[in-house]
Amino acid sequence: MSVLRFDNVSKHYAGGHQALVDVSFEVAAGEMLFVTGHSGAGKSTLLKLIHLSERPTRGAVLFGERNLLKVRGGKVALHRREVGAVHQDHRLLIDRSVGENVALPLILRGDRRADTGKRVRSVLERMGLGHREKALPTQLSAGEQQRVGIARAIVAEPRLLVADEPTGNLDPTLAAEIMALFAELPGRGTSVLVVSHDLPLLKRMRKRVLILDHGRLVDDISPQDLAE
Ligand code: ADP
Ligand code: ADP
Repeated sequence: MSVLRFDNVSKHYAGGHQALVDVSFEVAAGEMLFVTGHSGAGKSTLLKLIHLSERPTRGAVLFGERNLLKVRGGKVALHRREVGAVHQDHRLLIDRSVGENVALPLILRGDRRADTGKRVRSVLERMGLGHREKALPTQLSAGEQQRVGIARAIVAEPRLLVADEPTGNLDPTLAAEIMALFAELPGRGTSVLVVSHDLPLLKRMRKRVLILDHGRLVDDISPQDLAE
């Protein structure tokens, strides 16, 4: 079963060039993969089409059985709740505690605050942050802040997690720690798509890598090929 499918997707911004040209690929349930390419290759555009902050000019994006062309209006917010997102700059609410930040997706989907505590604590513990629930984000290190961002992205058990340069601000050791946390998610039912241009990191991870070049998907490298 595929979690995500791009069928001949092109994206042409008004006044800009073609950001994506006839891109097709499929992400299986429980798969982790990377998307890489030069600046301007179309990586962010690809994420925006998944997130519905942009629409394709041609082609279709499918999320499970759902054709995203048909997701409009109020359904967009519902769709976004099923896609966890991690950003380079973590985007935590700085006036809320770590625990409150992580609880947010659960509150948004309608869980009562009293019911969120157990799940929030369990995700924070998996991220090695069990003792930081009451802290404010500004009291944490960069690596810890990024782990809070991941906790928030996965607390509602999305089918897909997308991460846009999640280790861009971290040193190589912290980056490797964050990647190890991502690599555990497929075993728990969340597929993971990471945009990164950190080639040494991609090589070490030995996962599938999609390469974009001027909007075209020019390579789809399997982990076996990377190992050679
Ligand atoms: P990447 O994330 O790989 O750096 P982007 O998806 O941001 O690439 O951009 C792909 C191409 O589309 C670039 O040429 C960029 O300038 C262009 N582009 C991105 N967003 C817009 C926009 N809102 N309007 C016009 N052109 C855009
Ligand atoms: P914008 O509307 O300018 O894209 P957003 O806050 O929606 O601003 O997203 C900023 C960046 O993070 C974009 O590149 C967007 O594609 C990506 N992003 C945010 N949330 C998600 C998500 N749930 N799925 C995919 N990409 C996301």
